[in-house]
Amino acid sequence: MKDLMVIFLGAPGCGKGTQSDLISTSMSMAHLSSGDLFRKAILRGDELGKAVEIYFKSGALVPDSITTKTVLAHMNKEGIRRAILDGFPRTISQAESLDQTMNAEGRKIDAAILIDVPDDELIRRVAGRWICRICQTPYNFPDGPQGARCKCGGDLYQRADDNRDTVAKRLAVYHENTAPLIEYYEKQGKLIRVDGLGDMLEIAERIKKVLSEL
Ligand code: AMP
Repeated sequence: MKDLMVIFLGAPGCGKGTQSDLISTSMSMAHLSSGDLFRKAILRGDELGKAVEIYFKSGALVPDSITTKTVLAHMNKEGIRRAILDGFPRTISQAESLDQTMNAEGRKIDAAILIDVPDDELIRRVAGRWICRICQTPYNFPDGPQGARCKCGGDLYQRADDNRDTVAKRLAVYHENTAPLIEYYEKQGKLIRVDGLGDMLEIAERIKKVLSEL
């Protein structure tokens, strides 16, 4: 199977994680989420977790040096050649490091897919996002779950960084640091825009069509 390295770009709440989960298995691709790597390290309470926790909880970006080292080491260790990169790169410096590493190995990023969703919809989605403690299924409850449970019976919780204040901060961080990546990949002729509004299965079909044409 040929190499296929694709970046999912977009603001917090645009559906990058959900779409990565929906698409990765059927396209035989790994789902590499930098946020998940950090989340797991924080849960383990190891050295990396302790170093990133303060940034993570406030909605700030983890410094480029830590992020790039963590993600590239993971890619190398797992021998990843077909993957959806979800949440990485998030700054121009991270994108340049990724390009340099790939180029040095005679490899490349094939495309950056921008999942386009307006800001007011993003705030509504993220502030209302609740997740099952057992199976991690996400739900949207703008007024809180009010006693609802997951379809598997699990308890629902909200991520520490999914509240209105932190979401507004994460959006501001996105516009300042990550939106410039749109131009970065546009200049390389790799940017593909996908409308992120509507039914999530339809959006997944739109993205799969784009991937199958790469
Ligand atoms: P996410 O799950 O992708 O929304 O990421 C959650 C948090 O992890 C972010 O708010 C950042 O604090 C941190 N994070 C994840 N990916 C990156 C990245 N590429 N660069 C810097 N910080 C990151």
